[in-house]
Amino acid sequence: MNDSEISKPAHFIRTIIIEDRASGRFERRVHTRFPPEPNGYLHIGHAKSICLNFGLAREFGGRCNLRFDDTNPTKEAVEYVESIKEDVRWLGFDWDDRLYYASDYFERIYQCAVRLIEQGQAYVCDLSADQIREYRGTLTEPGRESPYRERSVADNLDLFQRMRAGEFPDGSRVLRAKIDMASPNLNLRDPVMYRILHAAHHRTGTAWRIYPMYDFTHGLCDSFEGITHSICTLEFEDHRPLYDWFLDQLELYHPLQIEFARLNLTYTVMSKRKLLRLVEKGLARSWDDPRMPTISGLRRRGYTPESIRNFCDRIGVAKSNATVDIALLEYSIREDLNRKAPRVMGVLNPLRVVIEDYPDDRVEWLEAVNNPEDPAAGTRQVPFSRVLYIEQDDFMEQPPKKFYRLAPGREVRLRYAYYITCREVVKDPATGAVIEVRCTHDPQTRGGSSADGRKVKATLHWVSAVHAVPAEIRLYGHLFSAADAGDATSDEQFEAALNPESLQVIPQALLEPGLAAAQPGQTFQFERLGYFCVDPDASDGHLVFNRTVTLRDAWAKIQKTGNAS
Ligand code: ATP
Ligand code: MG
Repeated sequence: MNDSEISKPAHFIRTIIIEDRASGRFERRVHTRFPPEPNGYLHIGHAKSICLNFGLAREFGGRCNLRFDDTNPTKEAVEYVESIKEDVRWLGFDWDDRLYYASDYFERIYQCAVRLIEQGQAYVCDLSADQIREYRGTLTEPGRESPYRERSVADNLDLFQRMRAGEFPDGSRVLRAKIDMASPNLNLRDPVMYRILHAAHHRTGTAWRIYPMYDFTHGLCDSFEGITHSICTLEFEDHRPLYDWFLDQLELYHPLQIEFARLNLTYTVMSKRKLLRLVEKGLARSWDDPRMPTISGLRRRGYTPESIRNFCDRIGVAKSNATVDIALLEYSIREDLNRKAPRVMGVLNPLRVVIEDYPDDRVEWLEAVNNPEDPAAGTRQVPFSRVLYIEQDDFMEQPPKKFYRLAPGREVRLRYAYYITCREVVKDPATGAVIEVRCTHDPQTRGGSSADGRKVKATLHWVSAVHAVPAEIRLYGHLFSAADAGDATSDEQFEAALNPESLQVIPQALLEPGLAAAQPGQTFQFERLGYFCVDPDASDGHLVFNRTVTLRDAWAKIQKTGNAS
């Protein structure tokens, strides 16, 4: 499969922007924003939103702001703010000097609320949260009006001011918009605008005892910043009338809210709340555990920013929710690393091979190609000697029909080295397990090809025993056992749905010696085994690699058999 087969699809948001520019709307400006709440680390779903918002701004010569939606102080933290900034930058985007916080606008937002009170469009309500829910009604039944709905403007101003001053306990009162308790849209049934919360905020400290709700805050921030296209996920479609109502009543500059389908991926989960739970309960090591769908987890796993951006382009932007096969994400990193990652040899489960007819004291340095996809990557020398390791899987004493690799009497190629033939098998007398394979080599096949044109059916990777460097290798499976487990299940069930085999540690694999100097973040293709990236846990003398992805391309297979759209 190549790039042109999976091309960048046109999408409806781009079309809207093109039309707006043609009609002169927003003076032809394009100004978007990415508005995360700093209550967790970003995940691959956020990457979709980042690529969309920053990408459209870039495409149309516009701007994109980074704005923290920090109206929920009990869940938010500076750690999250910092990680989000790092992740957005790492993905390759830049907000320049346009870093904003909803909390920067708390005073302005408060003044907007006061204005709505003065206009008779907001009131202080003393119903409890449960009562408000009860009064709201249902989709089939209209709501009931609060007994506090007709408070005078003067009383409302006084109470709201005292809410701000901290006179009342949490939950005792709220400020509500006075819209329509019979509206078929529940969001318009006098939604809460402000709540009392005696909690310290990571930026404003204890200056505020009341905090504005998301629906009231978001449109105002968009408006203050001159946003043109306010792109959000589909669940906010029913909130758009409210977004519009606040801005209309306040007669403020009015951006256009556009909703798109959020990204869902098979075998994982796209909710910060659930991801936080995994971290808090120790089910994941950390937010950047390579099994996590977080940007930091993917980075640690060995994903590149390009691969994630390409993935986001490929999945496109649609108006209805769908789940993307995680194989497409894996395809994207494989495709990128195929071009970039140097090839090396490493043996995960070593089986000792002795080349009986090779001198004990001899070492040959053989030439190996660094990347067949990139001639500029050149070659390197790998040492060959009498005692080698191959993969246990690559040998069978009694091979079944379609097993073409090493077996008694069989000849195979050692990559870049020689043809070898298995002569004898050595077993552990106690267990009967094969512990060594004794072979001979054909000196005429140096470099891995025979002068007489003789063919072998298998080429194996290998390392020289005395030269090999040990490494810990971490292999990953999906986070969940079933494709739909992550998003479909409740908080309790989803823990039981975790894949118990999502991490397999190989304490001592053996790698070609050049890898001794590998640094955290560097990625390699281990021939025949996949792409591997050095983990930050690596320290002097202790190499640790994460397998980013295997070489097998499940996505290409799916495409071929027509199982995916
Ligand atoms: P979560 O449900 O994971 O907590 P969220 O929507 O509460 O996500 P925010 O911090 O509010 O997280 O999200 C910031 C932006 O990223 C929002 O504009 C949101 O619409 C977008 N976003 C969040 N999740 C996804 C997703 N899965 N796909 C696309 N965009 C997303
Ligand atoms: Mg949110």
